Amino acid sequence: MLESLRRIVQEVNAAASLGDVLNIIVARVRSSMNTEVCSVYLRNDQQEYVLMATEGLRAESIGKVAMAKSQGLVGVVASREEPLNLDDAASHPKYQYFPETGEELFNSFLGVPIVHNRQVLGVLVVQQETKRRFDEAEEAFLVTMSAQLAGVIAHAEATGGLADIGQRADARFLGVAGAPGVAIGQCVVVSPLADLNAVPVQRVRDIDQELQFLSESLDAVKHDITKLTEKLETHLNKEERILFDAYLGMLDDASLGGEVADKIRSGFSAQYAWSQVILEHVAVFSRMEDAYLRERASDVRDLGSRVLAYLQQSSSLAERDYPERTILAGEELTASNLGEVPVDKLAGIVSLRGSSNSHIAILARSLGIPTVMGAVDLPFTHLEGHTLVVDGYRGAVYSDPSERVRSHYQEILNEDKQLVASLESIKDLPCETVDRQRVELWVNTGLVADAMLSIERGAEGVGLYRTEIPFMLRDRFPSEEEQRQVYRQQLEAFAPRPVTMRTLDIGGDKALPYFPISEDNPFLGWRGIRVTLDHPEIFLSQVRAMLKASEGLNNLRIMLPMVSNVPELEVALMLIYRAYDELLEESYKVKMPPVGVMIEVPAAVYQVKDFAERVDFLSVGSNDLTQYLLAVDRNNPRVADLYHSLHPAVLKALVTIAKDARSENVPVSICGELAGDPAAAMLLVAMGYNSLSMNATNLLKVKSVLRAVSSEQVHHLLKDVMTLSDADSVNRRLESAFKRAGLSRVMRFDSEAGLPN
Ligand code: PEP
Ligand code: MG
Repeated sequence: MLESLRRIVQEVNAAASLGDVLNIIVARVRSSMNTEVCSVYLRNDQQEYVLMATEGLRAESIGKVAMAKSQGLVGVVASREEPLNLDDAASHPKYQYFPETGEELFNSFLGVPIVHNRQVLGVLVVQQETKRRFDEAEEAFLVTMSAQLAGVIAHAEATGGLADIGQRADARFLGVAGAPGVAIGQCVVVSPLADLNAVPVQRVRDIDQELQFLSESLDAVKHDITKLTEKLETHLNKEERILFDAYLGMLDDASLGGEVADKIRSGFSAQYAWSQVILEHVAVFSRMEDAYLRERASDVRDLGSRVLAYLQQSSSLAERDYPERTILAGEELTASNLGEVPVDKLAGIVSLRGSSNSHIAILARSLGIPTVMGAVDLPFTHLEGHTLVVDGYRGAVYSDPSERVRSHYQEILNEDKQLVASLESIKDLPCETVDRQRVELWVNTGLVADAMLSIERGAEGVGLYRTEIPFMLRDRFPSEEEQRQVYRQQLEAFAPRPVTMRTLDIGGDKALPYFPISEDNPFLGWRGIRVTLDHPEIFLSQVRAMLKASEGLNNLRIMLPMVSNVPELEVALMLIYRAYDELLEESYKVKMPPVGVMIEVPAAVYQVKDFAERVDFLSVGSNDLTQYLLAVDRNNPRVADLYHSLHPAVLKALVTIAKDARSENVPVSICGELAGDPAAAMLLVAMGYNSLSMNATNLLKVKSVLRAVSSEQVHHLLKDVMTLSDADSVNRRLESAFKRAGLSRVMRFDSEAGLPN
């Protein structure tokens, strides 16, 4: 059973279209269950369940038989959202006979719902002539099958007829709002290295150049294989040697090489042509009955990836020309992908993985680049060169927008520009409420570009400089001197304003290409301070670099991430003092900077007082605190709906932290993304946070809101909000407070309102 399940799912996953997916399902399920009929019904826009594929019923009835919810047996399964197992279907009161199907021959019926994200997408049915109930094992098999296939069907449905993308205007793909704003531009696909499934469909003019790339890459892999065979000569047995020869043969012109060359001549890039031919062969091998031959599918895939890596290398040498308004799209984008696009050309970002608090989204927000995360269904490999609209407010992407959609979003873009221009006037005014309660607005930085933007927006300091970002942009650990130069630049740019440098916070979703950390549960694993305390040599050289960089400027503050207990804090403090003493001995004129700790794990919330006794300041990392309090992975789009920074539990924790910090007389700020949310900022001020540190893009919006309200109003609002028991109610309450205060223009609550259906 398990083996047939695995094989069906594997085959379905490799299918090219929804039609193929359904045909494979009905054929394979029917033969695995040894039954006479297997059919799939899918829900259409009118909420009817339509027969989409069958083995056993008459093919003419496909697309014709349709049942509303609770009409017919299929409708009953859909409305009850549970299996229906009958030995005599015709005697069921809801039975409905469709003569065109020829189903009168079949007496027993087993239907199970296909459910994805709580929605019944369709019904999977098996039928047989013999009057007998399907047994428990059969029912369980079909339920398991359906649960596994639901995601694949949903994906195939959402991506639609991929082949017609380009002719189909306004295909809309939903994801998670990553960075606010709207972008209209041209898609540039970022493919991970050597991933055959992520190669963009690309048409080319210079066929000869592509053929040349192909022949060079094939030669390179042939050379590698020959070398490897020579090296392993004495260790290889006869079968293995034959296998290596077979690989070499496959790369010949008479084999794969020739097939690919033909495809290139029809106008496709070498990378695309190669990946398609390889995937077709992989699919053929995977379908083979013989286990040995089936295994060969992975060899072909491996060979394919090796050649692809060379092809990608050769074309990356030919310099990439980015369009004026580039929308970067890819499965999982990295900081260095963003860095490769000239800043003035990067208009928008779409990532299939990740969620609103993934670090790439945070980076995009700090650069003010509209971004959609977790757009899992976006057929990005088909979109190279297509026009996209990125709606970073709603978390939606439109491909090949119609004139109506384009002008709707162009209008939003214009309004946004006007808003930014109108906020310029408050840039140099202090951030204070109407009754003069002062709040400091700081920024979060990491790149040189966001530091520049921050100064232009009137930031009063840096509340979080993410030092891991410069680490991520390299291919090895930066030396102490290299770090000193980068930090000096940051400290000089802001001096005399304070700059809070966080010690290296890697792990979770922040990987260094040259220091991979592979764990089953990375957000609960080796992250932040845990890594650097295990590597004091890395920690000490970083702290020394920071201290040296601050010489003569004295605007450095050091902050420690992911601390979950007092001993961690004490060891880190001891190391900082050690670095400081060393530098004094080496005659550097450095001052001991204030040292602070982040409150970003639940344990720290309850130890604020213990931490406060040992440090000079506290800063709340609400991004992580939210994920840990709510047990919701900040990087996982599947649970993005559950990630609520304004969840009452998070608000209660924030109140406790501010209260305990105040009782110890230690200043407390907040540097998670919540601080840059103009509505949340009102609550944070009422809670007593001394400074809010946010992305530069939102700074003036937050300032304009805080300058428009009084302390009494925000205290009243906080009191009111703290009585609510769920995040949606909190959001609604804040939205109406915003509207009442005439502040709606600062926040866009519904970017799709008024958009034609
Ligand atoms: C946080 O967790 O809120 C935070 C500011 O740190 P990061 O987002 O870099 O994990
Ligand atoms: Mg954090």
